[in-house]
Amino acid sequence: DAAADVLRGHIRDIQDWPQPGVVFKDITPLLATPAAFGVVIGALVDIARQRGATTIAGIEARGFLLAAPVADRLGAGLVPIRKQGKLPGPVRSATYDLEYGTATIEIHADAVRPDERVLLVDDVLATGGTAAAAHGLLAGVGAEVVGLTVLMELSFLPGRERVAPLDVVPLLTI
Ligand code: IMP
Repeated sequence: DAAADVLRGHIRDIQDWPQPGVVFKDITPLLATPAAFGVVIGALVDIARQRGATTIAGIEARGFLLAAPVADRLGAGLVPIRKQGKLPGPVRSATYDLEYGTATIEIHADAVRPDERVLLVDDVLATGGTAAAAHGLLAGVGAEVVGLTVLMELSFLPGRERVAPLDVVPLLTI
């Protein structure tokens, strides 16, 4: 479809980054091309509407670049899930393994009300560690998480299984 075609044309493969053997999907050409970025944000907004999302959660850092315009177009609130030590208020933390190393992410303990329907947004679903941890944080603060939407799902990695039963909606499957 249109969003998948736009992504194919505006994502750059960077070989051996951030370490040998990894092919990094670089979204900066997409961000630099307003017409293409608009199509992709529109597709994410459609998914959010279909799921009845009232709130968008973005994962630092590239998830923020997507979650903010989606939330704005939808008229929804935005919840940032950040790397350790960045949020100023009381937080909950989750530590997990990722494709390269380990990481800790945090959410404000009072970030959502129980009646909010939260759509989680990120650029890439790889091993699923980040999204599974973010899902756990959202559930832990009482959110109903209605799905995970990503620009790209790397289907040669077991991300989808790792985030189950969270429903994954990719714009492009690689
Ligand atoms: P995972 O935890 O292994 O699923 O990795 C997903 C996280 O790492 C996401 O927050 C992505 O932004 C980032 N990531 C992993 N691989 C890539 C990539 O090829 N391009 C861009 N981001 C990536």
